[in-house]
Amino acid sequence: MFNALVLNKIEDEKASGKVEVIETSNLPDGDVLIKIDYSTINYKDALAITSSSPIIKDYPMVPGIDFAGTVEETSNNNFKTGDKVILNGYGVGEKHWGGMSQKARVNGNWLVKLPENFTTKQAMAIGTAGYTAMLCVLALEKNGVTPDKGEILVTGATGGVGSVAISLLSKLGYQVSASSGRAEYTEYLKSLGASNIIDRSELSEKGRPLGKENWAGAIDSVGSYTLANICASIKYGGTVAACGLAQGFDLPATVMPFILRSVTLAGVDSVYCPIEERIVAWERLAKDLNLANLDSMISTISLSEVVSSAHNMLSGKTYGRIIVDVNA
Ligand code: NDP
Repeated sequence: MFNALVLNKIEDEKASGKVEVIETSNLPDGDVLIKIDYSTINYKDALAITSSSPIIKDYPMVPGIDFAGTVEETSNNNFKTGDKVILNGYGVGEKHWGGMSQKARVNGNWLVKLPENFTTKQAMAIGTAGYTAMLCVLALEKNGVTPDKGEILVTGATGGVGSVAISLLSKLGYQVSASSGRAEYTEYLKSLGASNIIDRSELSEKGRPLGKENWAGAIDSVGSYTLANICASIKYGGTVAACGLAQGFDLPATVMPFILRSVTLAGVDSVYCPIEERIVAWERLAKDLNLANLDSMISTISLSEVVSSAHNMLSGKTYGRIIVDVNA
């Protein structure tokens, strides 16, 4: 028997969640059983838990697109009992019971071994948001955006993706500009490595097809007009790694930056990212992330606090990364 946050939904009503006691035999199929230490709340978890977006189709569902813990039973040859593992995405917490739980059973091919220099808590401080930030940095590197090319813009700066992206870029030697709607977090963003802060309202309204060439690259977790305006202000040959929709999923842009300035718009998905790329991303996080910065990003909550915290995240009342100690 173990505890898990279970979401239930009756017809058109919003889902409701409460911590329930579950029998291990009721877990879904999979070849690896994991004892979970930590999960985390990502933006997608917040959307799912509050029923703000139809992310979960079948109820009851245990939410949580991320977890880190220890292998308890396995028939998958890649793992043995006692291995520390991380899971990000693959539809876990959406279609398959997820990480807001003391136990999970999943397909072992979805798991990544925990890099040696991380604890399970640090892995969840990074979580899908941080691993996605790393995928975005890799996308910039793949497209030749090196620190000497110029400044990089990070949007949604106080959020999970934004915070980790700033920390990574700054440690890698990039000059970072952070776009945020919250002036009260200026010192926090500077402590992560941002050298310049801009108000997100400068980017969030309809703009011109082409603007001044400000940035060599950008990591955008916001979408909509912000993403369109960023593309219009990227230097010749630069790249925008787009991963999010905090402002909106629309993209009211023109082709001008692409056909006149050879700007590349690189899409980044973490959920079904191939396992080889995940392993590279986690290895790079282990090498390139300033762990002292990570400490300043986190707050830790228990399973019973997840629902209220998800509402707070969508109302813009949270920052950085929220870790869920499932055993607290
Ligand atoms: P957070 O809630 O932690 O951060 C989002 C940030 O976006 C906020 O902190 C805020 O930053 C900014 N923001 C919020 N509302 C608006 C708005 N209306 N207009 C402009 N900016 C806004 O979320 P995450 O960092 O976890 O995720 C960010 C986005 O990335 C989400 O859309 C998420 O779905 C997406 N994502 C995508 C992944 C993928 O695989 N493609 C994986 C992970 C996340 P500030 O106050 O500083 O402006």
